[in-house]
Amino acid sequence: MQVPFLDLKAINARHAAELKAAAARVIDSGWYILGEEVKAFESDFAAWVGSPHCVGTSDGLSALILALRGWKELGLLKDGDGVAVPANTYIASILAITENRLRPVLVEPDEDTFNLGAGKLTDALTPDVKAVLAVHLYGQLADMPAIAQLCRDRGLLLLEDAAQAHGAHLGGVKAGTWGDAAAFSFYPGKNLGALGDAGALTCQDAKLAEMVRALRNYGSHEKYKNLVQGPNDRLDELQAALLRVKLRHIDADNARRQAIAARYRREIKNPAVRLPSVRAGEGSHVWHLFVVRVPDRAAFQQRLVEKGVHTAIHYPIAPHHQQAYARSLGHLKLPLTEALHREVVSLPVSPVMSDEQVAHVIAVVNA
Ligand SMILES: *Cc1c(COP(=O)(O)O)cnc(C)c1O
Repeated sequence: MQVPFLDLKAINARHAAELKAAAARVIDSGWYILGEEVKAFESDFAAWVGSPHCVGTSDGLSALILALRGWKELGLLKDGDGVAVPANTYIASILAITENRLRPVLVEPDEDTFNLGAGKLTDALTPDVKAVLAVHLYGQLADMPAIAQLCRDRGLLLLEDAAQAHGAHLGGVKAGTWGDAAAFSFYPGKNLGALGDAGALTCQDAKLAEMVRALRNYGSHEKYKNLVQGPNDRLDELQAALLRVKLRHIDADNARRQAIAARYRREIKNPAVRLPSVRAGEGSHVWHLFVVRVPDRAAFQQRLVEKGVHTAIHYPIAPHHQQAYARSLGHLKLPLTEALHREVVSLPVSPVMSDEQVAHVIAVVNA
C-alpha cells in the first residue's frame, strides 16, 4: 500500500465541480483584480475566524511582512526594534522581521509542544523588544492565554503566524484573534489551501486594516493616490473565488485531520518514536503536520518508505543555521531548536487519507 505524504490532486478533486464553477464565474466576469470575490472572501474569512477585519494578500509571507510594515507606518515600531519569535519556525516568520529592518530575537520553544511558551519568552524580553511573533507551529495554538496576557502587561504588539493553524481554537477563540494581528497562508498544502499562492491578514484595529489594505496595493487607498510606499501584494479574484469554495469544507477537513491524529496518538506505541503532545483541548491543534521525534531519522524514513509510507521534514535546517542568516544569527547556540531540526519527521496526515492508509502507517511505524 502507498501512502503519499500529501496528495493535492485528491484534495481538490473532491470539490472539482464547485471549483470549476467558481473559476468560470471569475473568467466570465471580466474582473480579475480587487473585485467582489476578494471582498466576499475577506468578509467570509473574517466571520469564520471571528476577527473584525481581514485583508487578502498575495501569500502568507506578504501578510506577515505587511502586518509589521503597517505598524511601522503607524509609528508603533521603528527600524532596529526587537521582535521575539520562536527559533524553530519556518523561515518566513524570520524573513518578515528582517525584511522590515527589525531584529529577530530567537526564543527556544517549549520542549513538549515545539511552540513558544510564556516562560522562555519572558526571559527574552529586553527593553528593545517591542513585539512578539507567536507561531502556531504544525497547527497547534501556542500558549496564547499566557502570551497575550504577557504582551498586554508589557505593552508589546502581538502578531500571530497562523499559516499552519486555520481553525485551531481554545474554547472557541480561534487562531487569528488572540493577537493584535495575524497572518494566514493559503499555500496549496496548508489546511485551507488555494490553487496557487494566497494569504490574508486578520486584525483587531481598523487603522491597521486600512493601512495594510493600502500597503498591499502600492500604498494606495484611492486609485492613483499614494499615501505611503507599498508593494503589489494583492490577493487575486481567481484565488479568492476558489478559497470561498474551500472555506466551506475546512471544518470537515480539520475534523478528519484530528481523527487521524487521535488514532496515531492512541495506536503508535514504538518507544523510539516520541509523539507530539497537545497542551490544551483537542480543538487547539488542527494537525497541519503530525511531527514525531526519532533518534535516527534517516533510517526511520528509509524503513517507512520501503513500506510505502512517505514522510517529510519540517524543517531540516534551523533558521539561525541558514546561509542567509550566517552573519546575523549564525553565532547563536540554541540546543533544543537544533535537536528538533535533527530529529523531527512528519508522518502523513491529510483529509483524503483512508482508514486503511492510517492503519498502514501505524502498523509500519510500530514495526
Ligand atoms: C507557509 C508558511 C508561511 C508562509 O506562507 P506562504 O504563503 O508560503 O508565503 C509562513 N509561516 C509559516 C509558519 C508557514 O508554514
